[in-house]
Amino acid sequence: MGSHCCCEKLNAAEIFGANVFNEKVMKERLPKDTYRALRKVIRGQAELTPEVADVVAGAIKAWAIEKGASHYTHWFQPLTNVTAEKHDSFIDPAGDGTVIMEFSGKQLIKGEPDASSFPSGGLRATFEARGYTAWDCTSPVFLKTDAAGDVTLCIPTAFCSYTGHALDKKTPLLRSMNAVSKQALRVLKTFGNKTARSVLSTVGPEQEYFLVDKEYYLKRLDLILAGRTLFGAPSPKGQELEDQYFGAIKDRVSAFMKDLDIELWKMGVLAKTKHNEVAPSQFEIAPVFSTTNIAADHNQILMETIQKIALRHGMVCLLHEKPYAGINGNGKHNNWSLSTDDGQNLLDPGVTPEQNEQFLAFCCAVIKAVDTHADLLRATCATSGNDHRLGANEAPPGIISIFLGETLNEVLASIASGGKYKSGGSALLKLGVDTLPALPKDNSDRNRTSPFAFTGNKFEFRMVGSSASISGPNVTLNTIVAEALDELATRLEKTKNLNAEVTAYVKEVIEKHGRVIFDGNGYTEDWPKEAEKRGLPNVKNTVDALKAYLTPKAQKLYDKYNVLSKEELHSRYEIYIEQYCKHINIEALCAVKMSRTLYIPTALKSAAKLAKETTALKAAGAATAVAEELLAKVSRLLEAINKKTAALEAANAKANAAEDATDKAILFRDEVFTAIAALREEVDALEVIVPAYVWPVPTYADMLFKL
Ligand code: ADP
Ligand code: MG
Repeated sequence: MGSHCCCEKLNAAEIFGANVFNEKVMKERLPKDTYRALRKVIRGQAELTPEVADVVAGAIKAWAIEKGASHYTHWFQPLTNVTAEKHDSFIDPAGDGTVIMEFSGKQLIKGEPDASSFPSGGLRATFEARGYTAWDCTSPVFLKTDAAGDVTLCIPTAFCSYTGHALDKKTPLLRSMNAVSKQALRVLKTFGNKTARSVLSTVGPEQEYFLVDKEYYLKRLDLILAGRTLFGAPSPKGQELEDQYFGAIKDRVSAFMKDLDIELWKMGVLAKTKHNEVAPSQFEIAPVFSTTNIAADHNQILMETIQKIALRHGMVCLLHEKPYAGINGNGKHNNWSLSTDDGQNLLDPGVTPEQNEQFLAFCCAVIKAVDTHADLLRATCATSGNDHRLGANEAPPGIISIFLGETLNEVLASIASGGKYKSGGSALLKLGVDTLPALPKDNSDRNRTSPFAFTGNKFEFRMVGSSASISGPNVTLNTIVAEALDELATRLEKTKNLNAEVTAYVKEVIEKHGRVIFDGNGYTEDWPKEAEKRGLPNVKNTVDALKAYLTPKAQKLYDKYNVLSKEELHSRYEIYIEQYCKHINIEALCAVKMSRTLYIPTALKSAAKLAKETTALKAAGAATAVAEELLAKVSRLLEAINKKTAALEAANAKANAAEDATDKAILFRDEVFTAIAALREEVDALEVIVPAYVWPVPTYADMLFKL
């Protein structure tokens, strides 16, 4: 099935990056001065000149054609969570009836796709359909191959409107990386760092997903159209035996995973870890971290490739946040840190007291940022799909809190109280040059319930939805931390006593923002109550969460750091609220369709059959009580399903008729979303009393346990 047979030896080192125009290829194929010039551009130290672009384009073309490419595409990320591409071939008429292969610097740098069919949230006047894509040379050019062997040259690009507004997810991400780099460098300077030229935000996103047999998938309109099951009674066995997590991987899945690794490696994606997840038929893949920009691009490639390869193995990959009710959903754990360009992880507690002082300063800046802008972080994870997950079953609730671990908590608390810290009998701890011992690494306590956890040398943001682009959350993380570092740098630049100032800063952050630190179990019922007492927001749904984009506080923040203008920010609100409505509308229409064309006919058929059987039993002089009781139950459910289908239809029509975007979203949330759930209850009740052989769709047990 897969493109590689199982007896073929796998040489990861040979395969890795085979389809990437990476450093090594650049060095080999570009003239020395062009290579040097391009490196400067990539590092942000120079502008790209047309001459350099032409030489680079020529080298890329030659390389791509050798590898079998006939087309190229400016690959970009509109505000939809998926990527977009328009393919152009290299051919150019030579004037004598033949063609030459053409690819200029201009074609490399800039494209002009029609932007009118992408969401713009009012940023693009309808008469101005043009949009521009611009080469992002910090993310390497790569080749995508399909099963038929077609090869396309993909050029990662940013996408903006004719008026220069960002219409995509990459542009603000690049801007936010600049913002955090600039402010982090200022802080580093005050600590005496003279070598770092930039600070990179790094991310390693762990991706969860389900696999389902394609045969079953094709029989479920809800999976096809909505990405999740809108109906389905629980399987008699769920995930309670806890026998799936890290369990042995089945051959069929392992063959798929092997092909997936190969495809990803070829495109330079650092696929590293793979394992079974908690729910049946659920899995995870995690790459080695990279800079945020590349991590975001690679996560898009990964999501696309995972689906493609699954199909080649007769399976479908479900990336939805909650494909099945009652069992774990899919998340994306966004491991985030800051590192200097010369490789120092700024969130790694160092071995010397000086390093630790710097670490604590950065750590406290993150704490302050997260508490100050918890609403914005929450907003970046708000989608109709993720609403099923945040607060349900396994996922952290809609409350942002930070887990720090025992050691770090003690250290911070002792500094805050001006007191002493004793760790395993070690000496008193003050934040001073010669008194702060090396912080022991505290990886032991892996609190899985925290939405924002310190895990030794990085923070893990766990609210992110599995189907979402990681750009949004990281744009916000970078920007809010940039703001906190900006303020910290200003303080440290002014002070004559760095020690005292850092101590004062730590104290202040713990006093003012310590409320966001919570190491307990975030899944308990007590936590929301406790969080309320602390004044932490608990935002339960997308409509409420997205409001954060409209606050003056948000506008000021994004504007100040040149990440999103007021218009750009507002357009995101418009687009995301509209997407919320559209998704629930699709679910509603799909639920109605399934109800009318599958479940109601099944109930009718079942009732008619029971009536017939009752008559036959009576004629034979046999007892009819069981048949009659069943018939009564089915009839009652039939009526309820019919009624609730009509109610759902009415609610959906009402929501669609609303003019104002926010009013509409509220109706979808309060009336349509709930009407879908109400209809589901009746259908699921029917599923467990009618004969299995009349049930028109695959069951939860089929989909979850028969891979
Ligand atoms: P776990 O499942 O135990 O949380 P994984 O090994 O599955 O851990 O994932 C951890 C992720 O964190 C990996 O993608 C890893 O590359 C990433 N990571 C490690 N160090 C950093 C860092 N400094 N910055 C960003 N991500 C990091
Ligand atoms: Mg993991």
